Amino acid sequence: MNQDNKTTDNENFAYGPSPESTEKAFTWLAKSKNNFGHFIGGKFTNPKNTFKTLNPATGKVLARLSNATEEDVKKAVKSGKSAFKTWKNISSFQRAKYIYALARLIQKNSRILAVLETLDNGKPIRESRDIDIPLATRHFYHHAGWAKIYKHKFPGKEPLGVIGQIIPWNFPLLMLAWKIAPALATGNTVVLKPAETTSLTALFFAELCIEAKIPAGVVNIVTGDGKTGSWIANHKDISKIAFTGSTEVGRLLRKNTAGEGKKITLELGGKSAFLVFEDADLDSAIEGVVDSIWFNQGEVCCAGSRLLVQEGIQKNFLSKLKRRMERLHLGNPLDKSTDIGAINSSQQLAKIKKLVASGEKEGAKIYQPKLKMPAEGFFYPPTLLEETHQSMDICQTEIFGPVLTVIPFRTPKEAVAIANNSRYGLSASIWTENINLGLDIAPRLKVGVVWINSTNLFDASAGFGGYRESGYGREGGMEGLREYLTEPIAPEKNKSKKTISKHVPPALPKQRNRIDRTRKLFIDGKQKRSDSGYDRKIFNSKNELIGQVPDGNRKDIRDAVEAATQAGKWKNMTAHNRAQILYYAAENLELRKEEFSNTIQNMTGKDGRHEVESTLETIFHYAAWADKFEGIIHDIPIRGVSLALNEPIGVLGIVCPDKNPLLSFVHLVFSALCTGNNIVAIPSERFPLCALDLYQIFESSDMPAGTINIITGEQDSLTQILASHMGVDALWYFGDGGGSKMVEKLSISNLKQTWVNDGQEYKWIEPFKELMELPLYKGTQVKNVWIPYGE
Ligand code: NDP
Repeated sequence: MNQDNKTTDNENFAYGPSPESTEKAFTWLAKSKNNFGHFIGGKFTNPKNTFKTLNPATGKVLARLSNATEEDVKKAVKSGKSAFKTWKNISSFQRAKYIYALARLIQKNSRILAVLETLDNGKPIRESRDIDIPLATRHFYHHAGWAKIYKHKFPGKEPLGVIGQIIPWNFPLLMLAWKIAPALATGNTVVLKPAETTSLTALFFAELCIEAKIPAGVVNIVTGDGKTGSWIANHKDISKIAFTGSTEVGRLLRKNTAGEGKKITLELGGKSAFLVFEDADLDSAIEGVVDSIWFNQGEVCCAGSRLLVQEGIQKNFLSKLKRRMERLHLGNPLDKSTDIGAINSSQQLAKIKKLVASGEKEGAKIYQPKLKMPAEGFFYPPTLLEETHQSMDICQTEIFGPVLTVIPFRTPKEAVAIANNSRYGLSASIWTENINLGLDIAPRLKVGVVWINSTNLFDASAGFGGYRESGYGREGGMEGLREYLTEPIAPEKNKSKKTISKHVPPALPKQRNRIDRTRKLFIDGKQKRSDSGYDRKIFNSKNELIGQVPDGNRKDIRDAVEAATQAGKWKNMTAHNRAQILYYAAENLELRKEEFSNTIQNMTGKDGRHEVESTLETIFHYAAWADKFEGIIHDIPIRGVSLALNEPIGVLGIVCPDKNPLLSFVHLVFSALCTGNNIVAIPSERFPLCALDLYQIFESSDMPAGTINIITGEQDSLTQILASHMGVDALWYFGDGGGSKMVEKLSISNLKQTWVNDGQEYKWIEPFKELMELPLYKGTQVKNVWIPYGE
């Protein structure tokens, strides 16, 4: 007690200040006179056209960085392109040694990197020191290993070229590591743009590249604003874009690069659920909440920002949580006892305040502990919003700050429904002592990462990435490496991007006496007339009328998507049962081989026997894969496992080509079926009849209703409807270049995953092995389920 009868910090066991030294970091900044250029072709450019980067904890200027012009970006890409020629050809062992050297150097400089990160970003030193930098180091070590051995896992695959990488401000060096390590390991070169507010550790890393003697041009780092990012993404010599950031910018990048044939991976925002069941270890779950939403001030794409608590424990859990909130330390991020540091920028702080105010206006009850707020800098207290409900903006919009909403649930089924009620799908945490319940819930959540009795665990060996509007592609693990390698391109590839001309029906067709029956659409397991009531005439190669098919329209597509969405049976069947049905389909087709051969001959004028034989083999091929396209177990560095599960994407639209109309249809549709997707297919516009003859095969093979739906008609307009439909999760398009571009552009509505042929032709008969497996990857997304065990 002091003389005023008040307890002092010493007497109540409060932490004393324990600040980390900034001396080395400031010395490093001063060495460049706090002014930085870009890192292009192995050298730093002179600082030019500079802007300030601030310490968000004080608002003071740390350094001035150069804002790249389009010319700078061009130079960086040129240098990446020229370095690619040699970098891709050096031995795997040599590349591995370079990446290993980077890992060693990051590790050696981990303290100064941690301090720089904290100064520039505002995150607590405890986190940059114990999480960001060690994870970045681990990423380089792990990928040094991959550089040596990836060719054994991905035989025949090649690096892509110069990769454009755009990263955000929440985990600056870690995001750089997630991007650069796998790109370099697989023989690519990079042009990376850090976020405007957090470029310093990337510039420090550039110096490490010089020290590690990374060949000039392999790594290029340009600083600047969003414009710089868009110049990188739109540059014609960029082969792939790897982006982490907001869903809005992700959408923009997809739209602006549509039809260019660039690979793109998007790691976007989230609104992740943190589910606490009544049998959970509540004290552990409370610590889980702290790590989930107050780690990095909640500026985490996978932050558990929606707390879902089972009704019976809600009161107790929330009162424990409030007590815990009172004990969080907010303040100087450089202090080792700080739990919550500064928000990265004044703009982000303003955004958080605005969203919380709107939540209160909508009726949410706010709880904030009485913490002493620093007088300067951008700080926001840990915040709990109670009495919220799902339809509130605050429960749907990503806040990217230390703000948690609470919604109660009664049953596991309701918990899943609430968790999935989000346009995002990045991650979820499940807290229960009943492992059966946890493992039952995990596959039902539409997210890319699930943590059971844990949260915010990351590792270089386990892929990270989202479902739905949280983006696509994975970073880390084998699934992440694949993104930096070529996909098998068709041997019959038509290199020019020119549009393949559509078949124009002849003006005056010669009619045959006997007209085949009018076909129907296939929706929800039933044959149906088209909504329009109109039919389209189908002619053979001699211009004779050989049949009529329904002219499907928007309403038919809507019905088909609805049927596919409702049809849960196929996905939930065991893989063995799915395989049985596909084998049975092959068996049924075998009985009608001759009829199908005749239809192909009648439509195309070509002998259809070989195509039907190949079709049978293809169905058998995908039936065989149905119970063998298995996930893997990642060897994560904790006591536990991460199960990488290959899950179906959901409702898949497939637009089929004219070439080999039966075989290409079967390749695409059966591969997507074998991985558990439900399908809306549009057969070849010119040669649709044989796909329609498959109805009986589906019906007689016990395929559940709604699993496969087939709509005939004008491909361009039907594709447009499918591409804009919010209920379609992925769209595969095999038509002309213009259609491919349209599909990619329209896919941004709900960020559906796309696979387009860019107007190139694939070889469907006897395709090489790689093509036979490619659709399996395209039809699935990896969910990583983390299961720690032990004490
Ligand atoms: P942005 O998506 O705006 O920025 C991410 C990166 O993209 C930055 O390097 C940014 O540059 C760059 N960029 C911005 N505009 C363009 C463009 N038109 N073309 C190419 N690149 C561009 O995210 P912010 O950092 O501004 O954060 C906004 C919101 O995004 C957050 O509130 C949060 O909701 C979300 N977010 C999600 C992250 C995640 O990990 N999933 C990470 C960060 C943010 P610059 O820094 O100059 O703006």
